[in-house]
Amino acid sequence: MRKRLFLIMFILMACNSPEQKMKLDPNDPQFSEKARAIHQKSILVDTHIDIPYRITHENVDISQRLADGHFDLVRAKEGGLDAPFFAVYVSSKFNQPGTDTAAKGGAYAEALRIITMIDSVVSASENLAESAISPGDVERIVGVGKIAVCMGMENGAPIEGDIQKLADLYQRGIRYITLTHAKDNHISDSSYDERHTNKGLTEFGKKLIVEMNRIGMMIDVSHISDDAFWQVMELSNAPVIASHSGLRTFRHMERNMSDSMLVALAKNGGVFQYNFGSYFITDDYGVPADSYWSVQDSLNRKFQNDHEKAVSLFEEYKKAHPAPNPDIDEVVRQLDYAIKLIGVDHVGLGSDYDGVNEVPVGLEDVTKYPVLTEKMLALGYTAADIEKINGGNLLRVWKAVEQLKL
Ligand SMILES: [Zn+2]
Repeated sequence: MRKRLFLIMFILMACNSPEQKMKLDPNDPQFSEKARAIHQKSILVDTHIDIPYRITHENVDISQRLADGHFDLVRAKEGGLDAPFFAVYVSSKFNQPGTDTAAKGGAYAEALRIITMIDSVVSASENLAESAISPGDVERIVGVGKIAVCMGMENGAPIEGDIQKLADLYQRGIRYITLTHAKDNHISDSSYDERHTNKGLTEFGKKLIVEMNRIGMMIDVSHISDDAFWQVMELSNAPVIASHSGLRTFRHMERNMSDSMLVALAKNGGVFQYNFGSYFITDDYGVPADSYWSVQDSLNRKFQNDHEKAVSLFEEYKKAHPAPNPDIDEVVRQLDYAIKLIGVDHVGLGSDYDGVNEVPVGLEDVTKYPVLTEKMLALGYTAADIEKINGGNLLRVWKAVEQLKL
């Protein structure tokens, strides 16, 4: 009981006094306890959790602790994750026919199917979670000890060239849209698609940016090409987010953000949400890992009738081309780099949990966020800084986008 009283007193002090600005000494015997209190107090928002994909494809029950994967509501609670944005991921194969050889249409129906599924999963877990469609909702739901499930849509294809569908998706609870995913679509070019069909945004995409500002839908610049990013910077009157991106300085790929893009994002008032996928963190991991797909594919084709041979040759290849997994300290180093570059008001967390194959050692799943908080505190960040990084920045941007809507 006394311990609890101490904790409450500490939290109250952290709320109101200059204590919040004070740095914590990692040698302080109560460091861990203080770190835990700061973590508990912060509203932790993670802008990219791919669990809907697992629910759809593996029918997992997120109200139970799952033995594998990165997320479920039980572990989220344990890790102090208050507001996960579930990714309504619509594969590029649903893009409008004609935009790509594999595109077959049906994106809007696919988005509605996933949204309906999320709605029913959240209602079925009403003792643990509730749907949130505003920063006010998040604060209220977290205030009663539940997890506030928000939704972002990954790939703008479901808008299908119809501005009304943007409004309908907002109505259904989508609060950010990643303009595209792996392929150029009818809105924007993708960083992954070498065609760069429209040298950035399409004419419809440019109109859509204005409309997203108007209705209060957050714009997500993760996945889009550099040209598209700079055009969004020109066009958007509201701050934007990068819901799950990495740093190009450390992992050289267009999918990640360059320093100059980060500076522009901060100038726009937006927030860069750091991706935990090992693939996005270092070249040491990402470059060899990248080659695995094609090597495995060609071995499987070459040894169609001898699966064991294909597997053993692939294992040999991996041994000869190791992909050392980064650890949580590398993540902390990169977060610190980003914060030094663009300021503590513009960096947050967008893990991509359950959307990536490999995550760093020490960040194995959603129970690990408290370790990140502890390490950031040990590095000299204050309670106030941590609150911003853990979710305050994202909530600030979300509020600004809502206030700027017409
Ligand atoms: Zn993604």
